[in-house]
Amino acid sequence: MFIEGTWRAATDGAEFTSTNPATGEVLGSVPDGGPVDASRAVEAAHAAFRDWAAKTAYERAAVLQSAHVLMLERREDLAQLMTREQGKPLRMARTEVTYAADFLQWFAEEAKRVYGETIPSARANHRFLALKQPIGVALAITPWNYPISMLTRKIGPALAAGCTIVVKPAEQTPLCAIETVKILEEAGVPPGVVNLVTSSDPVAVGDTLVSHPLVRKISFTGSTEVGRLIAARAGERLVRVSMELGGHAPFVVLPDADPVHAAKGAAALKSLNSGQACICENRVLVHESVAEEFTQVLVQRMARMAAGDGRTDGVTIGPLIDQAAIDKMQRQVDDAVAKGATVATGGQRLAGEGYDDGFFWAPTVLTGVTPEMLIYREETFGPMVPVITYGDDDDVVAMANDTDYGLAAYVYTKDLALAVRTAEGLDFGMVGINDINPTSAAVPFGGVKQSGLGREGAREGILEYLDTKVIGLSM
Ligand code: NAP
Repeated sequence: MFIEGTWRAATDGAEFTSTNPATGEVLGSVPDGGPVDASRAVEAAHAAFRDWAAKTAYERAAVLQSAHVLMLERREDLAQLMTREQGKPLRMARTEVTYAADFLQWFAEEAKRVYGETIPSARANHRFLALKQPIGVALAITPWNYPISMLTRKIGPALAAGCTIVVKPAEQTPLCAIETVKILEEAGVPPGVVNLVTSSDPVAVGDTLVSHPLVRKISFTGSTEVGRLIAARAGERLVRVSMELGGHAPFVVLPDADPVHAAKGAAALKSLNSGQACICENRVLVHESVAEEFTQVLVQRMARMAAGDGRTDGVTIGPLIDQAAIDKMQRQVDDAVAKGATVATGGQRLAGEGYDDGFFWAPTVLTGVTPEMLIYREETFGPMVPVITYGDDDDVVAMANDTDYGLAAYVYTKDLALAVRTAEGLDFGMVGINDINPTSAAVPFGGVKQSGLGREGAREGILEYLDTKVIGLSM
């Protein structure tokens, strides 16, 4: 763990291991931090706060810019580690490292644009100023599926704003977190400004961190279920929260869309991190006039995806993260088939050489999916696409909105006006129109409804770590 600028063991010496989900190989041991370590990390961040906040924006930006350069220099090593620890195919791991580095650069630049305001006063001998100031100690709790970029998406804006931070990464991917923090250390982050607590006990450590009186801001990325618990706990102390939670993205194919282009998009989107991304489509809603051609191409594309160890050339589908993920897929398939869905391809765990030691699921397409099925409502975190056909009498926007989630949505059409109207009617934070990647460090990322609160990236990302202070000045 990294606390107060030094790498340390857990106070009680405990450790846990990180394993490769493709092979079961143990990759290494890391400290298993407990509540005492968590408290120390917060205290270190608190002790470092005033000096870090007092640095000029240019000084803070220079550190983040150096970290950006170092991360890109180490891109290949980081990608190799990520593929071994998290499982995503190497090409996608390289893309994630670049995306992660983008946040360091973006927020190095934004640090210099934390503008305040002067506000006219009704009194002639009076002035108002509004300043933006760092909130204080921030806490970042992150998931395993994007094990480096979810860290920099929080550390970048926190440090740029002048906050110090404690990071609690997912227990499946501590090695990626350690390498990320080493980069920040080398880039010149002063002791205590970034602290890392690795732990296999998220409940005890999480509760210590979330309820610590010195933590003034909590940024969480993970499941809606855990996000709600943390937000409720934070509410007891009125601490600012950002919540980046689960999704259930609709993928709407309108009657005038090119079904082949749409099917290629749906297959590519589902292969993103082997279906383990919060923005992957979870319900494909395709108009009956194009459903046959769309489904045929989708099935072809999914069936020919190569599943395997992400380090092997040509592999586009890596392993799922653990046995629980396999069990969830099996439960959703069994339920859907029992209620009348058809498995058009895949539908089971992969077995045999190269698969038996890992958690591999065959790329799957289910057709004839209906609202009674679990998969219609529950987030699917794997390479499985449920297809739902709709007709002229159906209100497809209402169907797309029929979910508690509101993160990403996708629309395929050639009609510009229809595209805009449909996008405007969708209750989601991000909409791709003939586009499966409406994300970048430069645009706000986040959801509505049960998908979260606040935005990361973009100009808005840094505001999550700033308070507004008004100064009234009588002259
Ligand atoms: P998760 O189980 O909610 O875990 C997320 C983080 O919370 C991990 O670090 C976890 O630690 C920790 N945690 C678990 N229980 C906790 C508690 N009681 N108190 C404090 N911390 C606790 O989610 P996940 O399975 O890692 O990630 C997948 C989910 O993340 C999906 O729902 C996905 O949609 C969502 N996600 C959302 C976004 C977004 O930007 N909206 C991005 C990526 C992922 P342990 O690892 O030790 O359990």
